[in-house]
Amino acid sequence: MDNAVPTRPGAGTALLEVEDLSISFPSPNGTVHAVNGVSFAVAPRERMAIVGESGSGKSVTAQALLGLLPTATISGRIMFDGHDVQTMPASDLRALRGAEMSYVFQDPLSSLDPVRTIGDQVCQPLRIRGVSRKEAKARALDMLAAVGIPDPARRYGDYPHQFSGGMRQRVMIAMALIGEPRLVIADEPTTALDVRVAAKIVDLLYALSEEREVAVVFITHDLGVVAGFADRVMVMYAGRVMEACAIDELYYRSIHPYTLGLLQSLPRVTGPIPEQLSTIGGRPPSPSDLPSGCAFHPRCRYVRDVCRTDTPALRIPPNGQHPSACHVAGWLAEEPGVLR
Ligand code: SF4
Repeated sequence: MDNAVPTRPGAGTALLEVEDLSISFPSPNGTVHAVNGVSFAVAPRERMAIVGESGSGKSVTAQALLGLLPTATISGRIMFDGHDVQTMPASDLRALRGAEMSYVFQDPLSSLDPVRTIGDQVCQPLRIRGVSRKEAKARALDMLAAVGIPDPARRYGDYPHQFSGGMRQRVMIAMALIGEPRLVIADEPTTALDVRVAAKIVDLLYALSEEREVAVVFITHDLGVVAGFADRVMVMYAGRVMEACAIDELYYRSIHPYTLGLLQSLPRVTGPIPEQLSTIGGRPPSPSDLPSGCAFHPRCRYVRDVCRTDTPALRIPPNGQHPSACHVAGWLAEEPGVLR
């Protein structure tokens, strides 16, 4: 697979391998091509971030990993620990969810059942697997303590509306981890939270992934959120991978104009405070009406004629260190700092 994004060097055999994944949906306006030829791999205990604006295909990719897109047309392969997720029987897929791979949803309020107690919901993944009520409760109390719920024995019988947004997200993380999965997919877990609470949730996920040796795929639109969290990052735009590498390399040696635009729009903690933050002009395209050639070309200040007609492949350019899908990536790799 020439557009594969490897796991980090020395990470060994991949736990999750996604190869040439394409996802489309029928719509009244024709077929929506949400994801096009995406490949990546995640090693055991690795933390990987998938970053992109709304409509980039990152959440759709994440949902496909757990077989959560029943109406989509999916091609390519999704392998988890050597098993093909798309062809496994429905009963095996249900067993995989929660036990091996679990999901932290973006909006805990709508993901939690408002009429069931927190304790009941945290126990559920264990009860489904036949764990006794008594043991499930004991493990749920331990898990609630591990995610930072104060006085878990007292809060066990509370309902979701009695928890703050940050505490509800901690409960979601408890539900994702209680089955001791090997991979957690966290889909914009901090979007609905204020900056301080969001930082605590990211720190919590980091600590728990280290302590429990769990791999994490963290989906976000904000490169700043995953700076100290992820080992590697994959940047998506309009359903394609634009750039992928180790997180430090992305911050210091990005060779894609879209990534540079994302980086330049981050607030800085050093130097003078700018009057206005830099932004990427224009808006992401609709997946049902993608521009020809490089889908980023209407917004790119480095656009060439070739960009309007030819879709750039994801590859390591001459003198480059990591894959980028850009016709001028080779020039950017030779001109460090040209866009900074
Ligand atoms: Fe910009 Fe062209 Fe590179 Fe696309 S291929 S990011 S339009 S320079």
